[in-house]
Amino acid sequence: MGEFDLISRLTARAGARADIALGIGDDAALLQVPPGEQLVACCDTLNEGVHFLAGTDAGDISWKSLAVNLSDLAAMGARPAWTLLSLSLPRADRELVDGFIEGFHALASQAEAALVGGDTTSGPLSICVTALGLVPPGRALRRDGAQVGDLVCVSGTLGDAAAALNRARAGAPVDSAAARALQSRMRRPTPRLALGLALRGVAHAAIDVSDGLLADLGHIARASAVGLRLEAAALPASEALRALFPAEDCLRFQAIGGDDYELAFTLPPQRLELLRALGADLGVEISVIGQVVAGDGVRLEAPDGAAIDFGCTGWEHFTGSPP
Ligand code: ADP
Ligand code: MG
Repeated sequence: MGEFDLISRLTARAGARADIALGIGDDAALLQVPPGEQLVACCDTLNEGVHFLAGTDAGDISWKSLAVNLSDLAAMGARPAWTLLSLSLPRADRELVDGFIEGFHALASQAEAALVGGDTTSGPLSICVTALGLVPPGRALRRDGAQVGDLVCVSGTLGDAAAALNRARAGAPVDSAAARALQSRMRRPTPRLALGLALRGVAHAAIDVSDGLLADLGHIARASAVGLRLEAAALPASEALRALFPAEDCLRFQAIGGDDYELAFTLPPQRLELLRALGADLGVEISVIGQVVAGDGVRLEAPDGAAIDFGCTGWEHFTGSPP
């Protein structure tokens, strides 16, 4: 399949929106930002061997390339609108391309995000997605709004994807419901879009957990000029994680593993009841994991109050410190 055949297959599944004046096919797309909204823009790249293992299904790769971007929009409290897809493929056989389009489309249609352009080249497998979303001015969730006295909360459970990666690297078989559950969180993470929207006007600060809870909350602490005190025992874990790993491994995956794509956020304690109601409405588990305090940094405490230190806080490119 040639470049233009590939683009026409992508175009057929691009999705439509009334705010697209001109979509795929010209030198650039023309998009109408609705009155009273700000444009929210982000992009993230996935490279083979860095962000996913060689041999991963094409549909899982494309799903994840979009999911990580939608997760950034969710963390801003933005509603997804449009995406651009820059694709570098070593070959364009039908199976790879169709698998890729299936995964991308499955999530894009759920999120009501239309594909409006991109770029296609031959080369090492690499996918860069740009996601564009909308939020009314002053309503975005930022990293710099945490206040002393806030509760620190996180959605869902932590550590599953890192645990799945650990098992995959060790060659462990995916031969149980628990192993499959972990693997699917690594391969097809679910961005917390509805929660991000619900947290507008509720959370003081928010971030998505992509590099590791401690690393990502460190960004909130720095941007907000506050300290965060977290209780290790309060970090949420799935049953699958607990079934497959001893408690100390679980904690390491939860605290510094990354790839969770949950939302971590702070809010004043008076809003906890409202938050619980929002979580129940959306069917999203919410855990209170700590407090915002005066000072700086993120301190993870054992039940006896001792600080827990893993020697790193999460994933960082170039210095690289996968758990
Ligand atoms: P140009 O050479 O002007 O950059 P291209 O030939 O690369 O244009 O692309 C033609 C059209 O197809 C453009 O509208 C571009 O946005 C779109 N396109 C190319 N690759 C992709 C892709 N991977 N996903 C979505 N749209 C794409
Ligand atoms: Mg051109």
